[in-house]
Parts: sequence; C-alpha cells; structure tokens
Amino acid sequence: MNVGIVGGGQLARMLALAGYPLDLRFQVLDPASDACAGQVAALLRGDYDQETRLEALADWADVVTFDFENVPAEAAHTLERQVAVYPPAQALALAQDRLLEKTLFWELGIPTPAFTTVASLKELQAAIERVGLPAMLKTRRLGYDGKGQYLLREAADADAAWRALGGVPLLLESFIPFEREVSVLAVRGRDGSTACYPLVENHHRDGILRLSRAPLAAPELAREGWNYARRLLDRLHYVGLLAVEFFVRDGRLIANEMAPRVHNSGHWTIEGAQTSQFENHLRAVLGLPLGLTEALGHAAMINCIGSLPPRAAVLAVPGAHYHAYGKAARPGRKVGHITLRADTPAALEAGLEQLLPLAGYRADDFHSPPLAGNPDD
Ligand code: AMP
Repeated sequence: MNVGIVGGGQLARMLALAGYPLDLRFQVLDPASDACAGQVAALLRGDYDQETRLEALADWADVVTFDFENVPAEAAHTLERQVAVYPPAQALALAQDRLLEKTLFWELGIPTPAFTTVASLKELQAAIERVGLPAMLKTRRLGYDGKGQYLLREAADADAAWRALGGVPLLLESFIPFEREVSVLAVRGRDGSTACYPLVENHHRDGILRLSRAPLAAPELAREGWNYARRLLDRLHYVGLLAVEFFVRDGRLIANEMAPRVHNSGHWTIEGAQTSQFENHLRAVLGLPLGLTEALGHAAMINCIGSLPPRAAVLAVPGAHYHAYGKAARPGRKVGHITLRADTPAALEAGLEQLLPLAGYRADDFHSPPLAGNPDD
C-alpha cells in the first residue's frame, strides 16, 4: 500500500522506517529539496498549498497523513476530496489554534490554564487583570517549541510583551508553577479501537523538549491522562496517534496542548515499547489492528539539539540506541535522538549519567521531584 505524508521532516522519516517492514511504500511532500525524509522515501517537492502537488500525492497514495499540524486547512480539504486522510482535518484545525484547542479541552472537562484572547495592548492590560500574574502571552497560531511566547511577571511587562508578539491574534493564559510535565500518547484505529502508551515525563528547556523518561510510575495520573485523551479521540472521531501534553500541579493534570501526529515525547517507543508510536500510527491510518503499547522495561530519550553526539561513545553505553535524522547541524535544530533502555530505574539513571554529557547536557540536569505517595522514589 502507498502512504503519502505531508511534510518531510524527521517524523515522516521515522514513519517510513517503521513502515517498510509492513510492506508499505512512502512519498513525502515538502518544499525543501533536502527534507530529511527524502533520504529514505520518494520526495515530492512542492508547497503545501500547491494544488497540483497535493493532487499528485492523493493520486498515488492509498492514505495520506501528516508529519506536522500546520498544514493549511484548504490543503487538507483538497486531499480529503480524493483520498482517505487521517487524522481528520478537523483535528488539525483545532491543534493549529490555541483558542479552539483550549475551548475544546474546556468543553470536554479537561482542566487547562485560565485563558482569554487578546487583540490589542488595551485588551492585554485588561486580560492581565482577569487572568492574574505571572501569565504567558502566546500567539494563537504557529507556536511550537516555545516560539511565539512571552512570560509576563508584572503588569509593567505588558508593553514589552505586546511589542514582541502584538499584531497577530494572541491568548493570555495563567502561568502554571508545575511540579513536572508529562505527555499521553494515545492511538485510535479506523474501527474506533484505542490504546494508550505508559505515561511519559518530559523536561523542556527554552521551550524545546530535551529529555523524556517512561513509564512514569504514577498510576493515578496515567489513568486521568488516558481518560482525557480518550475523550479527545472520541470527540474528534480521531484516527492515528494523538499526543497530549500536560502540566502536573498538586498531583493533578492540566492540559497544555495537543499534537495530532506522532510526537517527540514518543520516540522512546521505537526500542522501549512493544510497538512504536510510528508503527501504531501507520496501523491506525491503514485500518490495521493496533499493536500492544506496553513498555519494555524503562526507557529514556535524549534530544540532540544543534549537533550530533559522538556515535561510538553513545553506542558504548549498554542499552543506548543512536538515531541521526540526516539533517545538517544548526543551532537549535533537532538533528537526532538517543534512546536508552534499561531493566531498572537505577540502571536507567546510571546510563543517563554517561549519555547526557555526550549530548551537551550536565549529568544532573534533569531531576524530578519525588512522586506523591512514592516516598522511596
Ligand atoms: P508550548 O509551546 O505551549 O508547548 O510551551 C512550551 C513550554 O513552555 C512548555 O512545555 C512549558 O515548559 C512552558 N509553558 C508553556 N505554557 C506554560 C504555562 N501556562 N505555564 C507554565 N509553563 C508553560
């Protein structure tokens, strides 16, 4: 079967790598001649709103999916007229706009930070009164990896925040002094069957994910997260993998955002789970049975940002796996990741101590507070 992917970055690349053993073929649509998925799949060069390109992809493919959510709504609809497209265009539209996304969370009873829209400096000042401080000002659209965000600590920050982001539709939301950040990776098949991966704990710096560990041994939180994720999957008649990111505050989840695609915090599943998120996304969009989502012991994923670590040194650490994306080194760019698998949490931490410095972090950079109810942790 032929799978078309809109976007040719590392997510498309890892989808293709997961799909070849299932006897699938891939074409990726991307405007960049050096799109890294083009090294492992046929590259169809073109803009995402170029009708002839979209039609060519739809013509060839049995199903079309995405490697990022900021696909123009019109493009998704053009594809939908010709071919099966998953996840549904509605899920993309919701995830593109923080206002629609947060309104959906609210409608489904999923806790989310207090928020209000902002269209002028005057509205920002009024919004600060309503939401309180500290608060995050965010662009409604096209924000990712911490881009398009401004943290306001005091009312006097309003002018600078407006100068930095003003001119496009904005959202002010309350700042959550979280204990930890987690994500839920859930998948829904064409037949409505669902599965969830173990809860993942994430560490961001400068808005970019740096380290994930899974499973997080917090069964109550996991149940709460799976429940919220299933509400989203069912409401959206979703097909494919959905990632939902949460803050944890006072032992409860507060939803930050969702991504209607495979997700960076799920890369550990390639070696660390029975079925990887990439394979399960493909199984879902093709109408195949979903694979088991259980973790195989303990896993961590270190993002390689800007440059790749020395390969031999990484591979010398027992349980470490190296993933280069075939991208040129550039500051701030995700160029690869390392997965570490271990049988025990202690062995995982010992391996991380060796691996983190190789990827440019300090060995003790990403410690988590103890879990409530787990005094020994
Ligand atoms: P986002 O682009 O919304 O995923 O934000 C990137 C990162 O910024 C998050 O993972 C958090 O670490 C931080 N962040 C975003 N929104 C908030 C908030 N309301 N309160 C506290 N931290 C936030």
